[in-house]
Amino acid sequence: MRKLKLLFLLLIVAALIMGGYSLLRDLSAPVLTLAPATGTFSAKRPLTITVEDSGCGVKSLQVTAVQGGHAIELLNRDYPGGTAHVTETLALAGKGLQEGPLELQLRAVDHARIRLGSGNPAEQTASLAIDNQPPQISVLTTHHNLNQGGAGVAVYTLSEEPSETGVKVGDRLFPAYRQASGAYVCFFALPWNLPPAAFVPKVQAVDRAGNQRTVGLYYHVNARSFPTDKINVTPQFLESKIVPDFQQFFPETDSPLELFLKVNRDLRKENLAKVREIGQQSAATVLWAGTFLRQPNAAVPGFFAQPRTYMHNGLIIDHQTHLGIDLASTAHAPVPAANAGTVAFAADLGIYGQCVILDHGLGLQTLYGHLSQIDVKVGDTVTRGQIIGRTGTSGLAGGDHLHFDVLVSGQQVNPIEWWDPSWIKNNVTDKLMLAGVTIN
Ligand SMILES: [Zn+2]
Repeated sequence: MRKLKLLFLLLIVAALIMGGYSLLRDLSAPVLTLAPATGTFSAKRPLTITVEDSGCGVKSLQVTAVQGGHAIELLNRDYPGGTAHVTETLALAGKGLQEGPLELQLRAVDHARIRLGSGNPAEQTASLAIDNQPPQISVLTTHHNLNQGGAGVAVYTLSEEPSETGVKVGDRLFPAYRQASGAYVCFFALPWNLPPAAFVPKVQAVDRAGNQRTVGLYYHVNARSFPTDKINVTPQFLESKIVPDFQQFFPETDSPLELFLKVNRDLRKENLAKVREIGQQSAATVLWAGTFLRQPNAAVPGFFAQPRTYMHNGLIIDHQTHLGIDLASTAHAPVPAANAGTVAFAADLGIYGQCVILDHGLGLQTLYGHLSQIDVKVGDTVTRGQIIGRTGTSGLAGGDHLHFDVLVSGQQVNPIEWWDPSWIKNNVTDKLMLAGVTIN
């Protein structure tokens, strides 16, 4: 019994020595991280401080702001032993801080027993500024005349560098691009499916401290109606086109009609999302000049924003909207680039078949679908009129033709506007001159 007691005491002593040793052995100071570490912050985008101490843990954290010779304590907090990770968000309201520069002094200490028990200190100072003022927006373009399904351009300046800016339409932000003059250019759209009454475009800018401002634009809207079309999905089309070309996308589907519906609905949706994504990666300068070329000698079997009703054996099976223009001439006709740009995409894209997307800068892009042959690769620079491939029937096509889209940050707009030199002059190039951008 006595031996057991002795053993127990020995164990306690050993544990105390080891514990004390680890308290003394912890020689590394806590690690302080401040976000943002430079620049501006605000009540909207507050300061966050993290402290890490993998030894004995964080014991305390003090944060002091020095502004105009006055020291203001922002935080003074103690933590229990073993606190390995601390995250503090500094609330700035009611602390008596002014807009403008300040110096931030941070000090954290751990629970180590060294330095007569005062622990390992970590100290950091940072020069920052409080900014609670949103950017000033000066819109330089005085009128914006948009056709339903069409595009527009806004040019404006900002009083400070933004973290995000563009024209907001509904819940979509069309991004703006800063030009060498310092002005911002934004191509935006009145989407074909947005009722004109719901179209209220606003310029929006968020600064680096998170302060946001929006201002309205003067605009005029021309409502448009789009001609409808009926497409007969024949048993022969299902067997000779849909099954061989699309079974691989939905291998579990065994009815050709069900397969067609999956392609026309699900694959279409997926492909549109991909086009939208590609539209977010665009050059920050204008790469094009002149009007956009139209596929030569081509009839138009399909119009922009055309509501299409799909029939099978006399029954309505689906509704979709055609978001480009179909252009048919001879089979395997050469396809010219509508304008100068770079190749953003050149591969198979589901319903579009073999597909090329050209980037013309500032979010403006053109898409060429159902090709039988692609003659360019991603990253290539192309000139206006350069042959980029040949028409065909790849993807969801009933016959040899080119499917042509014009896109503004991934939103399909009416290509007819871009074939019209006076529309381009009045709505695009005259406005770009306000941003110091000249297009010949
Ligand atoms: Zn088409």
